Amino acid sequence: MTESRETTLLATVPDRLFVGGRWRPAQDGAVLGVDDPSTGERIKDVADATVADGVAALDSACDAFPTWAATPARQRAEILRRAFELVRERADDLALLMTLEMGKPLAEARGEVAYGAEFLRWFSEEAPRVQGRYDPNPQGTGRMIVTQHPVGPCFLVTPWNFPLAMATRKIAPALAAGCTVVVKPAGLTPLTTLFLARILEDAGLPAGVVNVVTTSRTAPVSEAILRDPRLRKLSFTGSTPVGRTLLGQAAGGVLRTSMELGGNAPFVVFDDADLDRAVDGAIAAKFRNIGQACTAANRFVVHRSVAEEFARRVTERVRAFRTGRGTEEGVTIGPLIDDRAVAKAGALVDDAVARGATLRTGGAAIDRPGSFFAATVLSDVAPGSEILREEIFGPVLAIVPFDDEDEAVRIANDTEYGLVSYVYTRDLSRGQRLIERLDTGMMGLNVGVVSDAAAPFGGWKQSGLGREGGAEGIHEYLQTKYTLTPDPFAAS
Ligand code: NAD
Repeated sequence: MTESRETTLLATVPDRLFVGGRWRPAQDGAVLGVDDPSTGERIKDVADATVADGVAALDSACDAFPTWAATPARQRAEILRRAFELVRERADDLALLMTLEMGKPLAEARGEVAYGAEFLRWFSEEAPRVQGRYDPNPQGTGRMIVTQHPVGPCFLVTPWNFPLAMATRKIAPALAAGCTVVVKPAGLTPLTTLFLARILEDAGLPAGVVNVVTTSRTAPVSEAILRDPRLRKLSFTGSTPVGRTLLGQAAGGVLRTSMELGGNAPFVVFDDADLDRAVDGAIAAKFRNIGQACTAANRFVVHRSVAEEFARRVTERVRAFRTGRGTEEGVTIGPLIDDRAVAKAGALVDDAVARGATLRTGGAAIDRPGSFFAATVLSDVAPGSEILREEIFGPVLAIVPFDDEDEAVRIANDTEYGLVSYVYTRDLSRGQRLIERLDTGMMGLNVGVVSDAAAPFGGWKQSGLGREGGAEGIHEYLQTKYTLTPDPFAAS
């Protein structure tokens, strides 16, 4: 990877707001700096939207809505399909861009491009399949007609950890349903969304259907949009505390909401598990995206009789990781997103060790430019340790032993989160029991990664509301109308 390739790519990424089909600067000319977390260096400045820019983006989404909603589903689908093809054609650029602004290793960034593209394809296929019903009412005196309609202009707020996939997972179903959108990507990683907006433009999307506002003035810009009575829906992916605040603001307008929030996934390994599989699954579930995934396994709940062997094997694997800049060949662990994330991982490890956990490897920040934290394994983590309660969002694998199934279930469910769980067992009945006993919206049974555009992704409890992907995903952007008409055969 040459530096000139990076420079050339960065020069092609739009650095302005995308509003009403035009690329334009912030009204006050302010810019927002984007840094490479592996070096701490500034890589690009983009427009820093004001509140007025945010409202202008909503104006465009509202103006474009009636025409887009009335556009035949097949036509909307074909634009999404073209966007899917273009994302695949520009996969190398998109992957490199994500590595530069977010830090994930290039191989993982390519994986995210493939995953993110799938939402465009999946919802291009779902768009023409939105269906209603026509039935006689039970009394036979009338006909009940049920139809589906786009909810209206939507505000989509995305996090920094999966810059492409979190955007397409919202934009694609919204557009498929006939909604128009204002997208606000995370200020730390705005470049991928701007690049995606250019792709959507090239795919033939009409002006104003997708608008992108990048901003550091997040709270006032987003509050102005959320309080605007023309907005009909909020879809948010991010942390639970911010999600709670936005839900409160959305309540004012009684907005439809989809909330994909934080997680604290248990990864339960029973004594009858295939340990090779469990170790492979653990490495994927923990260290993908440098541990910065809402679906990241946060607590490894391992049967006491296999806990030592499991700890030994994962430690061996972790010691073989290569840490470095995501663009370098063979790197498996990139930087964390910023120094705050490094400090948080360090504090959680220190607390666990102070309460008696054994540090097997790693455990501290790495002394080099950028925000690096060593991949870490902790075993015998004591109940009450902060690391079991908080979302780690870093490359730290924490093991807690258990003695029987009831105890495993109790530990696994002991969190306000309920996004995903992972269970490793060869016992089919036990696997089925765990499906019913674990309070999570998703579960990996002998697998460590569950994400799929064809699946309903989402959480229980404080991990969120609604589902993204699957047959369910488009319904987050549709509203139902029921109409009653008289029996057409009755004498009038
Ligand atoms: P975050 O909550 O800090 O930010 C998410 C988005 O909200 C960003 O665009 C940010 O700019 C914006 N934001 C922050 N404060 C705001 C405010 N006051 N008003 C309006 N917008 C505001 O989260 P993050 O650090 O970007 O992402 C990490 C979190 O996201 C983790 O908790 C992770 O679990 C969660 N996440 C969840 C899923 C899921 O599908 N459940 C997927 C990815 C990430």
